[in-house]
Amino acid sequence: MDRAIGHHMYYGFTRSICPVCTELINAQLLIRDDQLIMRKFCPQHGHSETLVATNVDWVNSSRTAIKPPDLPLELGSEVKKGCPNDCGLCPDHQQHTCFAQIEITNVCDLDCPICYTPPHATRAWYLGRERFEWMIDQAVAREGLLNQLAITGGEPTLHPEILDFIRLAKRRNIEGVLLFTNGNRIAKDEEFARALADIRPTIYLSFDGFNPEVYKQTRGKDLLPLKLQCLERLSKYNISTILVPAIMKGLNDDQLGPIIEYLFKTPNVLTVQVQPVFALGGCAGMSINSLDRITMTGVMEAIEAQTHGQVKMSDFICVPCHHPLCGSTSYILLDEQDQPLSLTRFVDVKQFLDYVTNRSRADMTDLFKLSRSAVEAIASASAVLGTETGRVEESIMQLLTSVNCCGLDTPPRAFRKRMKQISIHAFQDLYSWDQNRAQKCCVHTLLPDGRAIPFCNYNIFHRNTGDAWTYQYQLEQFGETYKMGQVKEITDAA
Ligand code: SF4
Ligand code: SF4
Ligand code: SF4
Repeated sequence: MDRAIGHHMYYGFTRSICPVCTELINAQLLIRDDQLIMRKFCPQHGHSETLVATNVDWVNSSRTAIKPPDLPLELGSEVKKGCPNDCGLCPDHQQHTCFAQIEITNVCDLDCPICYTPPHATRAWYLGRERFEWMIDQAVAREGLLNQLAITGGEPTLHPEILDFIRLAKRRNIEGVLLFTNGNRIAKDEEFARALADIRPTIYLSFDGFNPEVYKQTRGKDLLPLKLQCLERLSKYNISTILVPAIMKGLNDDQLGPIIEYLFKTPNVLTVQVQPVFALGGCAGMSINSLDRITMTGVMEAIEAQTHGQVKMSDFICVPCHHPLCGSTSYILLDEQDQPLSLTRFVDVKQFLDYVTNRSRADMTDLFKLSRSAVEAIASASAVLGTETGRVEESIMQLLTSVNCCGLDTPPRAFRKRMKQISIHAFQDLYSWDQNRAQKCCVHTLLPDGRAIPFCNYNIFHRNTGDAWTYQYQLEQFGETYKMGQVKEITDAA
């Protein structure tokens, strides 16, 4: 008797949610046609499947790169109902905050179809200065040194006190302060750009490529001229910039090559952080085919093809502070002829990662200890080029020196100002949420009551389920004064 052969292979088990009702349900991870698929069953809404990764070899190799948890000095909640209902962080959480975010307003001058933070036009709020400072102080107390703080929104440049907020953050024990923005205000308001040049936050600019048609779909109108004007201004004032393309399969995945080419030739643009579009907020209503979507590994494959092998999939290293399916990164050195050289082609980062993740033991010579701390600095969600400490650049030079620069024609120091980073951050959504990943998350939204919530959990379980208004109630409960502003007035002021 011929028995049928199953068309997928069991790989693992986790908890996820039903994409229709968001009830917590069990989920299987399966290998099918060299792809990793999440399959789950909701008693009410039946089966659903989503593509998690296109390349199982990558997934297998990255699974070993999970680092033992590095815990915060203090926790913010107790375990009462179980994950994901106890975020704070609770004692079950498996990583401290590498990258913190504070939303300082929900107001925005755009209405992007892919936005995960709507609505912007009703019940506008602005975080007050005292609460902002208190929230930072809480986070710094939990962390000792807070690696990175992102000021975000809505559109944070529309907050009336945005420049003061950046100054206040920079006075704290924080390694780097980032300003998330759509770039409109920088493009339109030169005074504002000049002020940013004095304070020097790193600009984290949404930028979906060079095709005007793409912006009509991702941002609701052709924003390319404004984006280019913003970039010109950031270059003029030499402000460190991270370009953040939201990439959707079949829409702008062909833009990765041109964006990376721009990265290589633009001195103040230090990083491209690619974000596959995730199905939340406005995007949940867009037609994302959950089985034919771009994933982290899909982005790597597209980058390798579109850069003609200048940046290969093998140049990406796992970021072991969070779950390996959440993100990966690569560092590129530009030689004197501006030719890109990937760090991993000179340094066996994987060998060091084995030690970082405690899977190998070795005689810890002083050189090796130094190299280990250097790898920890670069293989982290908090690794940002261009901060005042230059920690990431120094770490890369340390690694180059430790391997005697084999194969390098240029001395390590010469690369100090010629480093670029390409990272991929694959945020979770209604289809892909995986409790394993949530518990290891190191990217946290700070709330006005002092809690830190893993960013994907905040988006999935709080923001769009009415808890956005909880955010507002929290402000009220703490006696914070905030203005019920009208979006239009704010937009005009910008
Ligand atoms: S995601 Fe982390 S902090 Fe939130 S409930 Fe789960 S273990 Fe606790
Ligand atoms: S600019 Fe950002 S906050 Fe504003 S609508 Fe677009 S995605 Fe949302
Ligand atoms: S924010 Fe989401 S994708 Fe990023 S590390 Fe946390 S759980 Fe993973």
